[in-house]
Amino acid sequence: MIDVRNPRTGEIDHRFEPASAAQVTDEARRLRQAQPAWQALGPERRADVLRRWADAVEAHTEALVAALSVDTGRLKIARVEVEGLPRNIRRWAERGPQIIAALDARDRPSAFPGVSISTRHLPYPLFGAIAPWNFPVVLSTIDLVPALMAGCAALVKPSEVTPRFVEPLRETVAAVPELESVLAFVLGGPETGQALIGAVDYVCFTGSVATGRKVAEAAARAFIPANLELGGKDPMIVLASADPVQAAKTALRASVVASGQACQSIERVYVARAIADSFVAALVDEARACRPNYPDIGIGEIGPFIFARQAEVVQAHIDDARAKGATVHTGGTVERLGGGLYLRPTVITGVTTEMLVMREETFGPVIPVTVFDTIDEAVALANDSSFGLSAAVLAGSAEEAEALGARLEAGAVSINDGALTSMVGDAEKSAFKLSGIGPSRSGDAGLTRFFRTQALIRQTGAPMPLAAFAEGG
Ligand code: NAD
Repeated sequence: MIDVRNPRTGEIDHRFEPASAAQVTDEARRLRQAQPAWQALGPERRADVLRRWADAVEAHTEALVAALSVDTGRLKIARVEVEGLPRNIRRWAERGPQIIAALDARDRPSAFPGVSISTRHLPYPLFGAIAPWNFPVVLSTIDLVPALMAGCAALVKPSEVTPRFVEPLRETVAAVPELESVLAFVLGGPETGQALIGAVDYVCFTGSVATGRKVAEAAARAFIPANLELGGKDPMIVLASADPVQAAKTALRASVVASGQACQSIERVYVARAIADSFVAALVDEARACRPNYPDIGIGEIGPFIFARQAEVVQAHIDDARAKGATVHTGGTVERLGGGLYLRPTVITGVTTEMLVMREETFGPVIPVTVFDTIDEAVALANDSSFGLSAAVLAGSAEEAEALGARLEAGAVSINDGALTSMVGDAEKSAFKLSGIGPSRSGDAGLTRFFRTQALIRQTGAPMPLAAFAEGG
């Protein structure tokens, strides 16, 4: 049995039996049997089935929001996640057939005389996903929907930390029989995850770097592609031309939304000396105004830590910064409210590159601010990280922000905003450095990555005789 803690009460109020390796194998076998018919339906009819799934999700909105808000201890973001799912499904149902039609290239002559080539696009039969706890619905479905659109069957393992939403989600799938035959969710922890990797043909993993390495190793043994979306330590650079008060509001939102439990959270802020004092003052004021969503889940900006151990990591980063001489202006101590663990937005100045809060992923509402003097210094500081998920630049003009953004080592750069990748699903991007490996999950590549290509190479003339390769010939 796996015990599940309620993030608002701190109590274990849910338990479940993890799927065994044998159950994962059985489920994979069932899905594989149904996959050829799903593929044969073709893109338009798969899109129709997906649209019916979107309708079913909409019909179950309240049950999904209720379960997800217990999983995550937050209400508004639970609703945003759940209401975003049918939109995402419909977006892929709309766009998918066009992308697939464009892929199916017509015959073309080869550079090799007498030969023509056509290319078929064959989906990996069984797609697998392993998801984290921070946005359970979004991250259990973000790769799944385009994989289904491509014609894969799909086996998804959400995080064992947030399993409650899965039951109502299964009900939405059961409402669409064609989908039920090719889509299953299995619940469990690391062992179930490992079993899944051994059972599928392509795995998409979202989670920490440490687990990502284990997934990559297991995928290498299983000889399947692993698409890894891992942690981040995203920098934001605030140039002297930016409005310091507006910049502070943007920095705060991009750092503390979802209590900072987001991979593309801003975790380091670099501000130009000319506006640093007014920026920090505004940031501290804005941070102080944030309230926990306690005792009423319907108020405030800061939810509890979903995963209790994460609160310990965040506290350790803050304590390490304090011990090494940083100044903590707001927040700074994890509070226990009604059994839930909360941290108010924590603005820190006087940080150095040796501090944990500047090097490792914090994954909490913590905003370390560093002052810079020159643009080159800002770029060097922002790029001084083993992560490269995304970044942000705020300036007085888009041109100025973009010129600097182009110098950053990150897969996506928000220009005059922060963490836009959390809201924009159609920007193609890679994860740089330790933040990930593999094709983009967003944009058209989010779908095309699930195809293998098969070339049909036609000889239109006479096949070459062996004599053509004979010595002295
Ligand atoms: P995690 O790595 O602890 O767990 C993620 C998933 O992996 C869970 O489902 C877990 O059960 C499973 N798992 C654990 N050990 C496994 C193993 N040995 N083999 C197979 N599966 C295993 O991550 P988490 O703590 O749930 O999530 C937080 C992390 O996710 C953060 O680092 C965050 O940055 C990252 N994240 C990345 C993105 C992105 O798009 N890059 C998005 C959200 C979260």
